[in-house]
Amino acid sequence: MRSLILIGHGSHLNGESATAVYRYADLIRERGLYDEVVEGYWKEEPSLRQVLRTTSSTDVTVIPMFISEGYFTEVVIPRELGLGHQGPVPPGGVARVIGGRTVRYTLPYGVHPSMTDVILARAREALPDFSAQDTALIVLGHGTTRNENSNKVIYRAADLIRESGQFAQVQALFLDEEPKVGTWPEVISAPRVVVVPFFASEGWHTLETIPEDMGLTGEVTAFPENPHGAQTVYYAKPVGTHPAVADVILHLAQEASGALAQDGDVERGHEQAWQTVLSRARRGLRIGEVMITPDSGVYELRHALDEGRPGAELRTLVTPEGVRDTIRKDDGGEHRPVHTLRNAPRGWRAVLSEEDLRRAVHYAYPAVVEETYAHTCHALRATPWPTTARRQTGIYAKVQKATPEQVEHVAHDVCTSCLRTRLWAGEKLTHTFLDGVPGGIPCAEACTVLVAEVREEVSGKRGEKAG
Ligand code: SF4
Repeated sequence: MRSLILIGHGSHLNGESATAVYRYADLIRERGLYDEVVEGYWKEEPSLRQVLRTTSSTDVTVIPMFISEGYFTEVVIPRELGLGHQGPVPPGGVARVIGGRTVRYTLPYGVHPSMTDVILARAREALPDFSAQDTALIVLGHGTTRNENSNKVIYRAADLIRESGQFAQVQALFLDEEPKVGTWPEVISAPRVVVVPFFASEGWHTLETIPEDMGLTGEVTAFPENPHGAQTVYYAKPVGTHPAVADVILHLAQEASGALAQDGDVERGHEQAWQTVLSRARRGLRIGEVMITPDSGVYELRHALDEGRPGAELRTLVTPEGVRDTIRKDDGGEHRPVHTLRNAPRGWRAVLSEEDLRRAVHYAYPAVVEETYAHTCHALRATPWPTTARRQTGIYAKVQKATPEQVEHVAHDVCTSCLRTRLWAGEKLTHTFLDGVPGGIPCAEACTVLVAEVREEVSGKRGEKAG
């Protein structure tokens, strides 16, 4: 039995941020090579701290879904997973035994040599008949003076493609460092130019900054009076959204497993947690705002406030992914980075097999089953606020300055709308949804929404917002 975890950054503000990771997880799941494919995030649920606990096997491979090596892949993710490793990840990855699971952590997918295939696939989409006679390729990266690793992968990919002899010229250019993208008319002499952005997703840079810096007006732009003569630029989509990235992920996972790979076993604690939930679900169960009703060998899930409404009035979902995509937004279409906040959408019902029920509950309430069961076994450790604050980085590092009173003030506002009980603040939880108390769910560690609100408080912006 083998589990694969894909790690993304996620966002507590923007639901689209996690979409690419979900899409690749779906693609790999369809191939059936792993018993399960699980997603985990820094800024959404399940969090990096929770995600290992949500895997059902003792053999886990973790792929960081990042385009280059850097602070997140070398420091944040290993630390949050408890890998006991910091710094550059060796080519074969890092393997550790954590809580009975063998965990293999790999390099980010973007640095894998087979990303050159993805660059070529994107180039071919933009200009199917590119040729070594008249076409130049620009591999375009972000680049930054803060992280020398981020450009290495672009140079290496450009070198490999240059050696293959498929283009008249191959050039690495960057947005934020030399050689800059705006210099392309001086450095490129071929009449046809394909530009492939080495970016993880479509966004501000690929849609606005790059076209602006290059003077592009669409997917194909003619430049009749450039220094080297007339040139036409063909602008490709970013590499990170190409379906072939799924193959790169599988290459990485297989290489991490190595020749001595053996399948793992069912993780006993995880299985016990789910068997406990399923035995309750067979008699009918409420978890938070969601009610589970057994019906002739299948299960129906719906919002508890929709109890009694005729099925014809509700949108019927038949897959766990349907539940996932529905429940990630509230009734107003707003992103829900924390699912235990009491704002689950209404108006739907899901009809699922017992196997699919597990995944649907996982999507509806990520890590809740595992953490609640661990709590009932006295095996859930709470993380005090100062520890959580110390782990915040970048613009969130300022939450370390928050006083206990400020944290409590914010928690009073934010956590009142949440089902969870704050173990990290010393609150007690004596009965859980497993005992028939739907809202009985432990909170072992301050979540991303609370951290963001504490930052606003420290910055003096919460009052402004309220005012
Ligand atoms: Fe809920 Fe507060 Fe815990 Fe966040 S920190 S999950 S809002 S109880």
